[in-house]
Amino acid sequence: MPQHVDRPEQVETSGALARSTPDVPPATPARRTGRAYYYPNVSDAEWNDWRWQFKNRVTRLDELAEKLPIPEEELHARREVLADFRMGITPYYLSLIDADDPNDPLLRQVVPLADEYYFRAVGEEDPLGEEKFSPVPGITHRYPDRVLMVISNNCAIYCRYCTRKRTMYDGATPDVEIDRMVDYIARTPQVRDVVVSGGDPLNYSNQKLESILSKLRAIPHLEIIRIGSRVPVALPQRIDDELVEMLQRYHPLWVNVHYNHPRELTPEAARACDKLSRAGIPLNNQAVLLKGVNDSVETVKQLCQGLMKMRVRPYYLYQCDPVRGAEHFRTPISKGIEIIEGLRGHTSGLAIPTYVVDAPGGGGKIPIQPQYLLRYDEQKGRAVLRNFQDNIYEYLEPGYLRDPMRPPLARPSESEVEVEAQAPASDELAPQAPPVVGKSRWVHKGATARRTPKD
Ligand code: SF4
Repeated sequence: MPQHVDRPEQVETSGALARSTPDVPPATPARRTGRAYYYPNVSDAEWNDWRWQFKNRVTRLDELAEKLPIPEEELHARREVLADFRMGITPYYLSLIDADDPNDPLLRQVVPLADEYYFRAVGEEDPLGEEKFSPVPGITHRYPDRVLMVISNNCAIYCRYCTRKRTMYDGATPDVEIDRMVDYIARTPQVRDVVVSGGDPLNYSNQKLESILSKLRAIPHLEIIRIGSRVPVALPQRIDDELVEMLQRYHPLWVNVHYNHPRELTPEAARACDKLSRAGIPLNNQAVLLKGVNDSVETVKQLCQGLMKMRVRPYYLYQCDPVRGAEHFRTPISKGIEIIEGLRGHTSGLAIPTYVVDAPGGGGKIPIQPQYLLRYDEQKGRAVLRNFQDNIYEYLEPGYLRDPMRPPLARPSESEVEVEAQAPASDELAPQAPPVVGKSRWVHKGATARRTPKD
């Protein structure tokens, strides 16, 4: 049972007390969060030991109820949810949760909520049709030159919106199954890139993981190995020297991480990412857009800018998949567009992830972004573009700019030209958008008047 912290009494900010002590700022109640609140008697040695963290994960509802308040009337629903999809929360990740906030964005990611029960029949078991594209169990071969290899069915934490919750059963993936996956890659020469995922591959011991990586690296046509892991988020203690020394023997090796919220970017997380980066492992973040977690421009901006400081490239922002029991996490696509619109131009392009919808049934990732190309006329070599401030610009393609070093072309007859208006016609543009550029130009009709590269 966590120690209860006595809350200091609120200082009165009005009336006689406030007037007599003008320099005393109002006290804010202490929040029930952090290691000292949840695990006051755990030593540093235990806390920093990933095995201790893993072993002491909160996996049962009664354990959870000792740490976080759970409304009595929701116990049944939450128990039912756990019978279907297990729970696991490392002490470290739990320590980041604010016990006083039932809507805490980190809590929502890992604690089974009653909503998950209410929406248990909504959504798909396998929303991305991974099984359909599976030539051997564990392999998904959806794109021409790369495959997904699911080598594990357990994770440090279980994310309530997980697309692959159907695979999270007890018991390890048998070695023979992993060997069949390796064998498929070895006999499929077009596969030059593998994403080793799960579950979480970094849950394996170094020896076991190395035995898999060494078999993959022995395949001559396999160029890139990528590992998908949420361990740097949920169990950063696992990223120790021994692990990174082993990983760097299998370059070119990349790691895709999965931070969703800026509060996950702790000093421990930064240390873990730094170790991986120093081993020459490029880090890319794959966040999921989740209602009540990170569905605002400001949150995603803070996340992406924080990742950049940790030398992690914001890679994808995924639309939440329609997996069963996760309807309460899904946002409309317009929310994702709004977030990207709020980032583009307002922060470095390096900090802007590609927003993607993974097409239901196995269509693959489809990138979506705000519309910046308002009009494009290939025949006239002209594009009308919008920038991040909503200003409108005209862009002329090669062969359509006037060359002051050359004599002007003979003025064509009226029938051969059309004059571009000073500003784009009003029906071409958003009415509120101010036209910024747009000069009258003679533009030859047809292809014959275009300059060729030899001009
Ligand atoms: S860490 Fe990844 S695979 Fe594991 S539950 Fe979370 S989203 Fe699913």
